[in-house]
Amino acid sequence: MKYATKLLHTGNEIDEQTGALSVPIYQASTFKQDDVDNPPQYDYSRSGNPTRAALENAMAVLENGTNAYAFSSGMAAISAVLSLLKAGDHVIAAQDIYGGTYRALTRHFFKYNIDVSFVDATDINKIEEAIRPNSRMLVLETPSNPLLKITDLRACAQLAKKHNIITVVDNTFMSPYLQRPLELGIDVVVHSATKFIGGHSDVLGGIVAVKDKNLAKHIYFIQNTMGAVLNPHDCWLLLRGIKTLKVRLDAEQQGAMYLAQWLKKQDFVKRVYYPGLEEHPGHSLHFRQAYGAGAVLSFEAKGVATAKKIAANVKLFFTAVSLGGVESILSYPVKMSHASIPQEERKKLGITDELLRLSIGLEDPEDLAMDILNAVKQ
Ligand SMILES: *Cc1c(COP(=O)(O)O)cnc(C)c1O
Repeated sequence: MKYATKLLHTGNEIDEQTGALSVPIYQASTFKQDDVDNPPQYDYSRSGNPTRAALENAMAVLENGTNAYAFSSGMAAISAVLSLLKAGDHVIAAQDIYGGTYRALTRHFFKYNIDVSFVDATDINKIEEAIRPNSRMLVLETPSNPLLKITDLRACAQLAKKHNIITVVDNTFMSPYLQRPLELGIDVVVHSATKFIGGHSDVLGGIVAVKDKNLAKHIYFIQNTMGAVLNPHDCWLLLRGIKTLKVRLDAEQQGAMYLAQWLKKQDFVKRVYYPGLEEHPGHSLHFRQAYGAGAVLSFEAKGVATAKKIAANVKLFFTAVSLGGVESILSYPVKMSHASIPQEERKKLGITDELLRLSIGLEDPEDLAMDILNAVKQ
């Protein structure tokens, strides 16, 4: 089955009982038990819910894993994965990891005596140098946020395997349509389903997908124990989002490519970051491990005042946090997604006060370009 077909035929799209072409929203907390000696498949919705199960099964199929688990947000999913760790463990994480993941590691898991080293994950030698005897997990994100740096997932998986380290990839920017890390040897995939999987800026959710039954058992234990499950209605919204994932992303990344090429030619722009551009340093590596450049790009304006003017004056772009919706969103990383990373750290990473990030939606890309141009001229 080609991926376009698979998105609609995961095997979880029909209501078995009625044949309805939509999974019912099982809005129930508990389930009647006829025989207490033989508990039914579902007994309590934290432990399992049929709508959630449909979403989880669909995501396992789409990531080409064995199991997937749905959480109340992307951060709940990431926190569940980090909860695989125990006191004394060491984590290696990409230095330009999502701001919330950075905060979770440095200010929350830190309290449980879990140490973290941040490295430039685009350089496999830097990762290798960071490995200690107690290193247990490697946390990656490619393309990274907001500079769209590319990490070699196959090489990382190989290196980690040699050292018994669990590899985790935050696949939010790509979605399983454009990149499937489990197929490249990665152990755990996480998503903020809030973004491309939901796709309509109307739901928060998180997914963890794995291809190993033992890891699956641990993630399920954490999901049920910590309790940050996704509610049935939001599971249904994600199931609906999945059906249009390909058509949305195809159109959105076409728009992103148009914007990237257009921005490159503007004299108010210093630099454009988009893995779809041939001059992007990670371009060829990215296309060896992914099926498209995605719908997120960023650029540096000439001068902080210009960047702020654009953020303040765009009309079609909504200046907001988040990405992956059908409407285009412009964000200002230093004040939004990366505000929790200290300024000194941000400087080192190249996340400047002139940087703007764009998530391209379904508007006509020519209108989006004019929107930016009009904002600059204000
Ligand atoms: C948004 C985001 C998250 C966090 O997800 P929430 O659903 O907001 O909790 C994690 N990683 C990436 C790359 C994101 O963009």
